[in-house]
Amino acid sequence: MDMTKVLVIGSISDLGLIGLAQKVESPEIHYLLLGGGDATQLGKYGVTKVYTLSAQVDEASLAETLVNLISTNNYSVIITPPVNKYFKTTIPIAAQKTSAPVLVDVLDLKQGGNTFEVTLNGVGNRAQVTVKVTDRVFLMAPPARFKPVEKVTTVTTESLQPKAITGIKVVSTEEKPKGKVRIEDAELIVSVGRGFKKQEDLKLAFELAEVLGAEIGCSRPIAADLKWLSEDHWVGLSGHKVRPKLYMAVGISGQPQHLAGMMESKTVVVINSDPNAPFFKNCDYGVVEDLYKFVPALTKKLREILKK
Ligand SMILES: Cc1cc2nc3c(=O)[nH]c(=O)nc-3n(C[C@H](O)[C@H](O)[C@H](O)COP(=O)(O)OP(=O)(O)OC[C@H]3O[C@@H](n4cnc5c(N)ncnc54)[C@H](O)[C@@H]3O)c2cc1C
Repeated sequence: MDMTKVLVIGSISDLGLIGLAQKVESPEIHYLLLGGGDATQLGKYGVTKVYTLSAQVDEASLAETLVNLISTNNYSVIITPPVNKYFKTTIPIAAQKTSAPVLVDVLDLKQGGNTFEVTLNGVGNRAQVTVKVTDRVFLMAPPARFKPVEKVTTVTTESLQPKAITGIKVVSTEEKPKGKVRIEDAELIVSVGRGFKKQEDLKLAFELAEVLGAEIGCSRPIAADLKWLSEDHWVGLSGHKVRPKLYMAVGISGQPQHLAGMMESKTVVVINSDPNAPFFKNCDYGVVEDLYKFVPALTKKLREILKK
C-alpha cells in the first residue's frame, strides 16, 4: 500500500499529536517544528523529516510557508494543536488556499483508501460526530489526547525560508490596549447572564469576584447584544473557551452554546432563580435563589471568612 503523507505542526511539547498521525494507515510522518527544540526526539516516534523555520514569522507568512510545503509534498493529513491565537489565523488561510476542510476537537481517525473517517466532539460537546472526508484534511486536537507509539527512525531536518503571503495585504496593525482581560487563563471566574436586570447591577458580581480574586465572564447577550461588558468576557461557542478551577454562573440559563465554552471547568456553581434552568443539569453545586438576594449575602459571608 502507498504511504500516506502526514504533516504535524507544533512545538516540541505537542508531540502527542504524532499519536493521531500514527492512526493513518502506513503513514509517512513529517513535523513542522515551531519554537525550537531537539528534533531527534521526534525520531523516537517514527517521524522521518523535521522542518524548522529559518526566521520568526507572523501568522500570514506561516500560512504561506505552509501552503508551499503542503503543495510541494502533497500531504493528505495536516495535524495541529487546537485553535490558539496563532493557528486561528494561520490554519484557515492555509486550508482555504489548499482547498481542504478543517475539523476541530478530533477524537479519532480511521482510514480506508483515500477516505478518512474522523470522529470529533460536536454540538457544543454534547455529541460525538463522525464525518468522512476524502483527499486532504486539516485536523485540530489537543496533543495530550493521544499517546504516540515508539518507533525509532532516522530523522532528516530542513530549515525553511519563510514565504511572504500572497493575496492578502496588511493595511495596518494596532496594538491591543494593555490590561485587557485574559479570561482563557483565569483560574476563578464569576460569570454573569441576563438574570441581571440592569448594567449597574453587575456591580454585585464584580464585588463577589473581587473578594474571590476572580475574573468576570459573561453570556453572549451581555457582551454581544446589551454590550454591558466587552467581548473579552464572553464565554461560549462563539466566545472564549475557559477551563478555570471554579466557574460560578450567575443568572445564566445554561444553553448548549454557553456550555460549550466552559464545560472543562473543574467545579461549576450555578445560581439561578428558576429550578428548571438547564444549567442545573451541568453543575457541581446549584443554588435556586434570586441572585439579588444570594450574591450580596455570599459576598458578605466570604468577606468575613476571607477577612477582606
Ligand atoms: C450560533 C450561536 C452561537 C452562540 N454562542 C453563544 C456563546 O458563545 N455564549 C453564550 O453565552 N451564548 C451563545 N449563544 C446564545 C445562547 O443560545 C443563549 O441565548 C445565551 O447563552 C443566553 O444567555 P443568558 O443565559 O444570559 O440569558 P437567558 O437565556 O435569558 O437566561 C437568563 C437566566 O437568568 C435567570 N434569572 C432571571 N432572573 C434571575 C434572578 N433574579 N436571579 C437568578 N437568576 C435569574 C433565568 O431563570 C434564566 O435562566 C449562541 C447562540 C447561537 C445561535
